[in-house]
Amino acid sequence: MASQAESEVVDLVCRLIQFDTSNTGDPATTKGERECAEWVAAQLQEAGYETTLVESGAPGRANVFARLAGADPARGALMIHGHLDVVPAEPADWSVHPFSGAIEEGYVWGRGAIDMKDMVGMTLALARQFKKEGIVPPRDLVFAFLADEEAGGKYGSHWLVDNRPDLFDGVTEAVGEVGGFSLTVPRPDGSERRLYLLETAEKGIAWMKLTAKARAGHGSFLHEDNAVTYLAEAVAKLGRHQFPLVLTESVEQFLGAVGEETGLDLDPASPDLEGTLAKLGSIARIIGATLRDTANPTMLRAGYKANVIPQTAEAVVDCRVLPGRLPAFEREVDELIGPHVEREWVTKLDTYETTFDGDLVDAMNEALLSQDPEARTVPYMLSGGTDAKALAKLGIRCFGFAPLRLPPDLDFAALFHGVDERVPVDALTFGTRVLEHFLRNC
Ligand SMILES: [Zn+2]
Repeated sequence: MASQAESEVVDLVCRLIQFDTSNTGDPATTKGERECAEWVAAQLQEAGYETTLVESGAPGRANVFARLAGADPARGALMIHGHLDVVPAEPADWSVHPFSGAIEEGYVWGRGAIDMKDMVGMTLALARQFKKEGIVPPRDLVFAFLADEEAGGKYGSHWLVDNRPDLFDGVTEAVGEVGGFSLTVPRPDGSERRLYLLETAEKGIAWMKLTAKARAGHGSFLHEDNAVTYLAEAVAKLGRHQFPLVLTESVEQFLGAVGEETGLDLDPASPDLEGTLAKLGSIARIIGATLRDTANPTMLRAGYKANVIPQTAEAVVDCRVLPGRLPAFEREVDELIGPHVEREWVTKLDTYETTFDGDLVDAMNEALLSQDPEARTVPYMLSGGTDAKALAKLGIRCFGFAPLRLPPDLDFAALFHGVDERVPVDALTFGTRVLEHFLRNC
């Protein structure tokens, strides 16, 4: 018989998607978080929780916290966190309205379906069930529903960690997004194996502004000292540059496990590691980006008239740097951009890495095996960033664990911030069962 949480999780996810919580990156146009947070708080209160609703640094940026006492208060608490905001969606591009929460073809459709109102819904369903049924988890649980993750958490997790550390009192470990999903890989004998990727590490985020300054002048004259030329050269060099292969523990363990299962030569010394990795499909876009630092130019600005050579030209480059690599990365960048271009960091968030071992990892592993005995869990590094970066500042050990069993042919990576974002209905009930097992044994 389906548990109370399993029976209501799909409806909760649909309702969450129907709140348009689009985070534009500009606080003036970001909306919906407060309404959504109030609704989440009401669902928790209806189940018997006392909730704390806090705005994080700007009006409307609302977050909800609730605690459930565990059997052993002496143990550190476990936080289960999810963000309520989503990236914007253009309705004209979608098969269904992105804020409809429609159920069609066995999927719940809408912005946030996998990033990350799926996990928010599963968490909410289980928080409600535990309270209503008087289930006492082995340790204290703290449920956190957060704002502004999609713009880096300045008005969300980072503000809360910096200004309201009391909300995280006693929390030693946390689970959040972008981990626990299945990846089906081919085996040498023609069969398939379902791997579940647990996130144990995140690359650092470093957004860099480049500025070239030179002499202004008339566009018809001889003019060697041109800011646009300097900047364009620097941007092109950076964009084409391949940084050195650096294997962190998480990536090495991932490659080892996948190599073992598939028979593919994923040895770091293999001459065509990236080519072999591409055989795994779209997940290679995430994993491939964790083998090296990356620098992708994203913005350009210069000039105001066709015949005026401007004094300055600017670019923004989205850099993602591996643990321990920042000083070497900066040296490499300086060589590439040359003497006429200056650089400054406009946003810089640290890398994060923990080990794939210990009781909590065992509990995640056992929870997955309880629902999918053929599963194998493997650690991996996320090329992007999550709220875990903020929590780690408090010394909290973080994992990405939002379990979903996915169809083998679903291009999961493409759904993140993508058009027609959707989550299988049976992945939500599966994930809820896994999370219940995990929270009862964490
Ligand atoms: Zn997310």
